[in-house]
Amino acid sequence: MSKGIVYLIGAGPGDPSLITLRGVECLKKADVVVYDYLANEQLLSHAPETAERIYAGKIGGRHNQGQDEINNLLVEKGRAGKVVVRLKGGDPFVFGRGGEECEALRDAGITFEVVPGVTAAVGASAYAGIPLTHRDITASVAFVTGQEGKDKNESNIDWDRLSLGGGTVVFYMGVTTLRRNMLRMVEHGRSPATPVALVRWATTPCQQVLVGTLADIADRAEESGFKPPAVTIVGEVVALREKLQWFDKRPLCGKKIIVTRATEQAGEFSAALAARGATVLECPTIRLVEPENWQLLDMAIRDLPEYDWVVLTSGNAVRYFFQRLNTLGLDARALAGCRICAVGPKTADEILSFGIKPDLIPSDFKAEGVVDEFSRLDMHNTRVLFPRADKARDLIPNELKRLGAHVDSPVAYRNFLPERLPPETLFALEKRSVDCITFTSSSTVQNLAAMLGEELMLDMLKGVAVASIGPITSKSCRDLGLKVDIEPQAYTLQSLAESLETYFG
Ligand code: SAH
Repeated sequence: MSKGIVYLIGAGPGDPSLITLRGVECLKKADVVVYDYLANEQLLSHAPETAERIYAGKIGGRHNQGQDEINNLLVEKGRAGKVVVRLKGGDPFVFGRGGEECEALRDAGITFEVVPGVTAAVGASAYAGIPLTHRDITASVAFVTGQEGKDKNESNIDWDRLSLGGGTVVFYMGVTTLRRNMLRMVEHGRSPATPVALVRWATTPCQQVLVGTLADIADRAEESGFKPPAVTIVGEVVALREKLQWFDKRPLCGKKIIVTRATEQAGEFSAALAARGATVLECPTIRLVEPENWQLLDMAIRDLPEYDWVVLTSGNAVRYFFQRLNTLGLDARALAGCRICAVGPKTADEILSFGIKPDLIPSDFKAEGVVDEFSRLDMHNTRVLFPRADKARDLIPNELKRLGAHVDSPVAYRNFLPERLPPETLFALEKRSVDCITFTSSSTVQNLAAMLGEELMLDMLKGVAVASIGPITSKSCRDLGLKVDIEPQAYTLQSLAESLETYFG
């Protein structure tokens, strides 16, 4: 039996990209992950699918599992020879009880390692635009628990020094005890006018910042119903936020946007929107499936030397086509004699990733643009291969035939409806909290209508801005009774993201 080891890993404050490389490395080899309420669950995707996942959350002091139980669990799994990751919000050694867990492991003779994380105060400081120290303002900072002395009359905190020292003070776990702690600082000599910021769910799309002073922050928090988890930053540095705020100033900040695409392709567009501050709800409306049989495509692939042109009008077509080429034991060289047309730059990039530079990209990135380019060439008696989706329009084959070409258009993949919408998306639509929905092809909007029913879709999308990638998709939206609010000049995801930015900016 291999020797067990327990890694105590700081998950960072919330944004899943704020974990360390070392933390991810450990997660990748975990047999067991024991994670907290404050550790972002998305981080679990780094662990092998087979890893056991154990939730050991503690919500607002209500311990779902006592600390002893957690210690025992870590010891037991370590003894069983497992690679255990104990994933803790922020940093394991800052108010994380990581010290106690290490002591228990040490007493039991289990090997452990500790991987630091970005603690909440540091995450909140960066993402709220409040430097914790500043050459002109303060040279020290203290991290203090807001819960200390709750049940005792005596306090371990030296309130005099904390209040009079002039340094920045960050309280953890201090929302419910906010009024008492702010009062104490004033009683012990800090000016009531000292600026204070509460930062909730720091570094996540739900981040909220409330600014006030020692004198009024508790009232403000009460009025706005401010809830944990939050850190409270006290000190003159808070005033810098006015100049240094950036996270909540990004153009799509606070906007909830639905991305309707096939799951396989949503990632990049969603990331572009998230980078602009949006909360993205991915809502697959297409499920891609292989053709019923490969016969026609296989015949065409074996016949590739006979074709003059191969026309590819989507990333999916490219991927399915090349996948099949590989399955048949061939590679890009099979296309040596053909010229390649890509409908737009995105599809061209996809083709390039298989080692081929397209010969033709129309200036108008759609089927009409392809036809337009070909109408300038002599297509008489040329042979064109157009691998496509089962539900694609017939425009390209029909028009190229009219120009005298012989066109074969075998199905390379099929589009299906997913069984249902993701629950978070439905919930957000029902709560009317969605700002915008994006459609990147006719089938995304048609499929949504098919999944929800036209009437329900129209009702659910009342007050939601509709963004469409181009005129064909927009027409499909209008045919279903939707008004299109956003349509970029160029029909690319990049331009669509930019148009959203302009619209909401
Ligand atoms: N080990 C953690 C702290 C755990 S104590 C760390 O290093 O950050 C729990 C407290 O951390 C919460 O009550 C809150 O004060 C703070 N906290 C954790 N994550 C936070 C977040 N994303 N935003 C604001 N405060 C957070």
